[in-house]
Order: sequence, then C-alpha cells, then structure tokens
Amino acid sequence: MTTVAILGTGTMGAPMARNLARAGLEVHAWNRSREKAEPLSDDGVTVHDEAAEAVAGADLVITMLTNGDAVRSVAGDEGALEAMRDEATWIQMSTIGVRAADELAQLAADRGVAYVDAPVSGTKEPAEQGKLVILASGPDDARQRCAPVFDAVGQKTLWLGEAGTGSRMKMVVNTWLLAVVEGLAETIALAEGLELDPGDFLGVIDGGPLFAPYAKLKGTAMIERSFAPSFALKHAAKDARLAAEAAGDAGLRLPLPGTVAAQMGRAIDAGHGDEDMSATV
Ligand code: NAP
Repeated sequence: MTTVAILGTGTMGAPMARNLARAGLEVHAWNRSREKAEPLSDDGVTVHDEAAEAVAGADLVITMLTNGDAVRSVAGDEGALEAMRDEATWIQMSTIGVRAADELAQLAADRGVAYVDAPVSGTKEPAEQGKLVILASGPDDARQRCAPVFDAVGQKTLWLGEAGTGSRMKMVVNTWLLAVVEGLAETIALAEGLELDPGDFLGVIDGGPLFAPYAKLKGTAMIERSFAPSFALKHAAKDARLAAEAAGDAGLRLPLPGTVAAQMGRAIDAGHGDEDMSATV
C-alpha cells in the first residue's frame, strides 16, 4: 500500500488528507497547530506531533503550507527533508512562487530525494470534492508514483515540464484569477457608488460573452458582504506579490499584480486578511 505523509492540514491540506485516506492510501499527517489535524483521526489518518516523524515511513510526502518560508522552515528547521526516506518523493503543492520553487528543487536535489512541484488550482470546495486541478512538474519517472495522490485529490493533472514549471503556470493562472476578482470588486464598487443595484450588473452580463460563473459566485459574495473564507485574502495578496515578482524577474513591466497586491494590502490593514479574498471589495 502507498504511504503518504501530508504536512499542513489547513483549509486545503485537511480535505486533501481526507480524500487520500478515502482512496485507500495509508495517510500520516502533521500540522504546526496539532488541534487542526486531530479530527482527521476519525478518517483513519495517523496524526503526528513532529513533521519528521510523519514523513519517516512515507513513499510520498506532500507539503501544503502557507508560503515558501513555511515550507523552508518545515523542510529544514523541523527536519522533514532529512527524515524522508531516500526513495521518497516530495510533492510540493503549496503556492510559493517561482523563486522558492526553484530553491526547494535544489534543496531536494542536495538531499537526494525526488522533487515534484505541483501547486493546485481550485479552492476549498474543490479540495473537499477531490476536484482540484494539479499543475504538476518534475521528472518523468515520478508521474506513476504520484498518480495515486493526484487521482485522489484532483479531477485533472497537467504534467507541464521539469520541476518549477508548475509554479510558473500557477503564477499565470493566479494573475488571471486576481484580475477577475479585483476587476469585479471595482466594478461592484462603482455600481454602488453610482447608486445602482450591483445585482443588476450581474443581470446585464448573465448569459452573454462577458459573463463568467466566477463573477456570479464572487460578485454575489461581494454584494452580500459575505466573506466566509474559501481562499483567505492574506494568501491572495501573497499570490499577487509572487506574481509581481515573477513578472519582474521575467523582465516584464506588468502593473496589474502589484496594483492588486496594494489594494488587497489595504483590505488586510482594514482587518479583512482572514476573510475570503472577495473582501477586497
Ligand atoms: P491555511 O488554511 O492558512 O493553512 C496554512 C497551513 O500552513 C496551516 O497548516 C499552517 O499551520 C501552516 N503554516 C503556516 N506557517 C507555518 C510555519 N511557519 N511553519 C509550519 N506551518 C506553517 O491555507 P490554505 O488555504 O490551506 O493554503 C495552503 C496553500 O495552498 C497556500 O500556499 C495557498 O496559497 C495555496 N492554495 C490555497 C487555495 C485556497 O483556495 N485556499 C487554493 C489554491 C492554493 P497552523 O495551522 O499551525 O497555522
């Protein structure tokens, strides 16, 4: 039986762990705040006190943590990378940006474990339903080994190239996502500012080429000021900063990701960081 360790059982990691266990894999989990991982025991997941202990017997080790600093700290300071079996494959699924993805690939190579860079597209609900889209990248011989994990948590896996390509594509996808969310927020703000019913704006675009299901979903949340987090605003701001950094490193002058990061930063300063990113309105 394939043994999987998952480090990080937050909004995304917890439902992923559940789906891995439901798929019949042996699952070991660790979370910095143990109480968040504890309920997974009911699903047959073994919860550990130490990251190093969780990964010790695993064939596949998933990291699903906030950002590159968190992954670096768990892999290094918490000793997870050192404790992995030499034959293990490390599947890095957090959104960490291009620089950190490349840096962690090097760390894994220095340690001698296979590294797959595989961030995901999709939020809390797709994670619960096992319907994430996996942006996978890494050595060809890792594909078959990763299949049980990707099949359990995702509806679709795209293998995009060598390790790091997945994180590059994630920056591209998030640039699109953040443009939609911020554009929608400003559109709704303008409708309200002009004393129109913003719901009528959604009615105008509904059914036509300008409509997007996401406009309805997030637009309704913005109009109702209903911000239960699917994707926390503080993480969306982090992704906007990472996209701006990726664009700069590629020699491009793209004002949008930086503008979105600044707007979301203002929302965080106003106390909305833990709410859904639609709170940017
Ligand atoms: P979350 O609910 O905030 O969970 C973050 C996890 O990281 C928690 O387990 C947290 O531990 C851990 N963590 C943070 N800093 C740490 C540190 N220094 N050392 C050890 N552990 C640390 O976030 P999430 O929504 O699950 O997102 C996880 C990743 O997936 C992020 O990179 C995010 O951008 C990406 N992502 C999220 C979504 C989404 O819609 N939510 C979609 C696609 C991708 P504690 O519980 O102890 O705080």
